[in-house]
Amino acid sequence: MKGDMYLAWSSDEEILKRAEHGGAVTSLLKFALESKAVNGVLTIKARNGNRYDGIPTLITDPKEVVDTAGSLHCVSPNIARCVKEYLDGAFDMKLAVTCKPCDARAIIELAKRTQIEMGNLILFGLNCTGTLPSASAKKMFEEEFGIAPEDIVREDIEDGKLVVRLKDGTEREKDLAELEEKGYGRRENCRRCEINIPTMADVACGKWGVSDKKATFIEVCSDKGSDFIEKAIKASYIRVEKADGTAVDMRRKKDHQAVERAKMWQERDFTELKTLDADGRFDYWLGEFSQCIKCFGCRDACPICYCKDCTLEAGRGIVIGGEIPPDVMFPMIRIAHVMDSCVNCGQCQDACPMELPLSRLIFMLNRELAGIFKYEPGIEVSALPPLRTVTDEELSISGVELAF
Ligand code: SF4
Ligand code: SF4
Ligand code: SF4
Repeated sequence: MKGDMYLAWSSDEEILKRAEHGGAVTSLLKFALESKAVNGVLTIKARNGNRYDGIPTLITDPKEVVDTAGSLHCVSPNIARCVKEYLDGAFDMKLAVTCKPCDARAIIELAKRTQIEMGNLILFGLNCTGTLPSASAKKMFEEEFGIAPEDIVREDIEDGKLVVRLKDGTEREKDLAELEEKGYGRRENCRRCEINIPTMADVACGKWGVSDKKATFIEVCSDKGSDFIEKAIKASYIRVEKADGTAVDMRRKKDHQAVERAKMWQERDFTELKTLDADGRFDYWLGEFSQCIKCFGCRDACPICYCKDCTLEAGRGIVIGGEIPPDVMFPMIRIAHVMDSCVNCGQCQDACPMELPLSRLIFMLNRELAGIFKYEPGIEVSALPPLRTVTDEELSISGVELAF
């Protein structure tokens, strides 16, 4: 039932051999297809075995699921956008989707906007403490670890360390904070991310709470998830043990540590800017936006930007002309449209060719709004975005300022 926690293992020898932490997720995906609970599985696969080039893949043949076993840390595909754009919002097919917390949250935000049919999805959430930009990760492995990127067969982020395993079976590790001080390590949004266990999905799966790392820790997060897990156990696709108090405690502590590290980064990102007065901060952001080349990359990548007729397009009668850089209203309009619902996925910043710190600004604004409206985006489909539901009375409250 909802709330149950298990240690789980795949019952499939081939999956067990290739999986990192018990292979339960891979077996559940296989069960989803073989039991015909879904028409397809959307997950991430290394393109031609290249772990720095992971691509979203729609699988309909259960035999192919095993090829997706294991984690990829140096890729961050736009899963929510993929469901919406390329799979027509799952309105006509049932899908099992593997998703990090930010992916699951973005899917939920799109479902609120009737762009995705949640009833046709089963979300397999994967714990996440960060993904690494692939180009910078390869450079980091060469320069900081002294190893060729292609010799790495596995990466892991554990207790503030980045651990890599090589083809020869040896492991190397380095302190993640030290790497990040040097400009390597996780994507900027991931360093700030404090939602690491995807309890907004139907099941949340990970390795925290599993001392020997050879099992998958599963938390059942919805009635749909509960029904599915019970069927998978009955059909012997996975075997499970109830997670004991020690396992649950260990998982909670790991999560707490990850949240503390995220808060440290948030503090740091914000404090640097808040040393400036309001005019100074405004000038700082104007300086950043003066580099914008109006490529629309941020808009096209953002899962929350979903309008078919975008206000920013030419001929919409707004102040946006053809000049480069565009009027500051160009970035400001986009930011105003998404800031109450930003899920800190970092896709906008990844897409920006001018490397503007877009997600930092939008995250800061989002936190301010979250405090005012007591609203967390991407958790409940029924909780509507506050700037859409704000009342006249709320709009008339004076003295509310957003610090950014
Ligand atoms: S934002 Fe959070 S959930 Fe998303 S990839 Fe980064 S750490 Fe993982
Ligand atoms: S604004 Fe950026 S970080 Fe926020 S949801 Fe959109 S793409 Fe993700
Ligand atoms: S991605 Fe960057 S350069 Fe392109 S429109 Fe957005 S802010 Fe401007």
